[in-house]
Parts: sequence; C-alpha cells; structure tokens
Amino acid sequence: MEICRECGGKIKVIKNKPYKYDECGLDVIIIGLNQYECKKCKELFVEIPRINELHRVLGGILCKEKKGLLEANEIKFLRKDLHLQSKDFAKILGISPSTVSRWKSGLTKRARSSCSCTGSPEPIPSGRWPTFGS
Ligand SMILES: [Zn+2]
Repeated sequence: MEICRECGGKIKVIKNKPYKYDECGLDVIIIGLNQYECKKCKELFVEIPRINELHRVLGGILCKEKKGLLEANEIKFLRKDLHLQSKDFAKILGISPSTVSRWKSGLTKRARSSCSCTGSPEPIPSGRWPTFGS
C-alpha cells in the first residue's frame, strides 16, 4: 500500500479511468494508466510510464500528421519538449523571436509542417521543422 506524499494517508488505485493529460498543454487523453487517489486528502496522482517516448510521439503527430496550422499550445509543447528557449526555437525555424512570442501568446496561430501555408503570415517550409523519433 502506497502512502500519500502530501498527508501520509493511504492511496487507492483507480484502474481503467481515462486520464486527461492537461499538464502537457495539449488536448490528450491517456487510456490504460493507473491513477492513485489519497483516501484522506483526495489528492490525485498519476504515473505516466515512458513519458519521453510519449512526448516524442505527440511531437511527431503534431509535426507530421496534423492538418492545418498549429495552435499556440501546440507550438509551446514542441518548444518545451525540445527544451529550447524561444530564441533558439526561432533560430531553428529561421524566424524572429518576436514571431515565436506572438505564437506563444496566441496572437498569431501560424506555422505548418507539410501542407499549404496559404494565409500564414510567415509560412514555414516543412524541412525546417525539427523531426522526432528515429
Ligand atoms: Zn493525502
């Protein structure tokens, strides 16, 4: 039996409850995880196995498979997952740091990997996106 790190109470295991992974900043639901709830303080815990691999898969989906333009939260996810500062992220993409700032703030949601960039204020050719995985 596990003990709550917050209050020392006993933890109960919740199986097969879809987990909304809000921490990553994307609209992602994970199925098949064990979640843990403290019986005393009701704190919820979750353990996500192979989280780096999960983030690589999510990044790959955003870069290669998403149709249309990336949203501000998706750009933020990619930048954070690559552990890049805004200025370094901008450098890789060949854009100005102020453009990245506008993307992050959601003032301009633009950037696309492979499909048409028509209408994008600063279109990004597909080859300039970082690649994930093998
Ligand atoms: Zn607790």
